Amino acid sequence: MTQIPFSRPFTVGKEFQYIQQTIENMDLSGDGAITHKCHQLLEESLGVPKILLTTSCTHALEMAALLLNIKPGDEVIVPSFTFVSTVNAFVLRGAKPVFIDIRPDTLNLNEEKLESLITPRTQAIIPVHYAGVACEMDAILDIAKGDNLAVIEDNAHGLFARYKGKYLGTMGCLGTQSFHETKNFTCGEGGALLINDPQYIERAEIIREKGTNRSRFYRGQVDKYSWMDIGSSYLPSGILAAFLYAQLEAREQIQHKRQRIWEYYYRNLRDRATQWGIRLPVVPEYCEQAYHMFYILLPSYEERKALISHFKERGISSVFHYLPLHLSKMGQDFGGKEGDCPVTESVSDRLLRLPFYNSLTEADQRRVIAAMEEFYAARS
Ligand SMILES: *Cc1c(COP(=O)(O)O)cnc(C)c1O
Repeated sequence: MTQIPFSRPFTVGKEFQYIQQTIENMDLSGDGAITHKCHQLLEESLGVPKILLTTSCTHALEMAALLLNIKPGDEVIVPSFTFVSTVNAFVLRGAKPVFIDIRPDTLNLNEEKLESLITPRTQAIIPVHYAGVACEMDAILDIAKGDNLAVIEDNAHGLFARYKGKYLGTMGCLGTQSFHETKNFTCGEGGALLINDPQYIERAEIIREKGTNRSRFYRGQVDKYSWMDIGSSYLPSGILAAFLYAQLEAREQIQHKRQRIWEYYYRNLRDRATQWGIRLPVVPEYCEQAYHMFYILLPSYEERKALISHFKERGISSVFHYLPLHLSKMGQDFGGKEGDCPVTESVSDRLLRLPFYNSLTEADQRRVIAAMEEFYAARS
């Protein structure tokens, strides 16, 4: 029995060629020609004034916290249902995370709860576009504007997805992307900072270059470079950029594959979902999603556990997702307690992600569906 993993990295074919060229060109450190090609491709396709590749989405979020001058005592509003980096980046600067619950439909932060969590210390709201389906950005941006708060979109799942025609990651003052192996487009480890508000461009370049104005020096805008501000090293090597460029060039092919995989699951589960008592992903009609994952919501933790082991016996790997951050050790240290985010707590226990990767075949997917048919036939 061949195994169907949950996730599997994908190469489009040109990665080696571009890496070889990069080595021949001695373009090994960050911000050489191949990095600029990635910046240009992303800036042009998303219509963003400035995009900088980073070593990870985590680091892009850390840059965002530095750019906003987040300091001890500040508060940031973040969903409890997310990856730790969304929160850690701000906690590293001394901020207190204020956890917000999610909407039961899209599993994105519930914008109706925002007002009640905003205090005079609130500096920013961090929407996470879960599964590459947009948060309710009109409402979020409206509230943020009224209270003079920054909006930073953690768009690790949603590159090239849209909300009412606008690309995710391009609506807040800053957006972040991940090119980790598990994301739609990858170079193993990598990320990007989308700088939508041009007032942050100059300082972002400095922070990313160890606090120096080396970027301006390379462009011939100053005759020497020196220490200008705090900063760190957030530039990926040209070799990683070369790998990424091959993937970004193939973006339509990759997204097309993922769309077909998502739609196959949806088509084959739609009619049985009610009978089986499972809930499928909700994608509002004004959202063009990124096809990052396919999840189902089961009625209980026990049933999820049973289905995971049923899959496992048939060589299929399925996985749950985020544990509520407000109930983690760190979250509790910040005052989080059970009942703070009831939808997050319930969803976290019941959500299951089905195998999803670019090279997943229809035959593999048929096996996943057949395993589910067997599971529910035995239970009815
Ligand atoms: C993957 C992920 C990150 C972290 O990305 P890295 O590139 O691994 O740092 C952050 N936020 C979310 C929502 C993610 O899924």
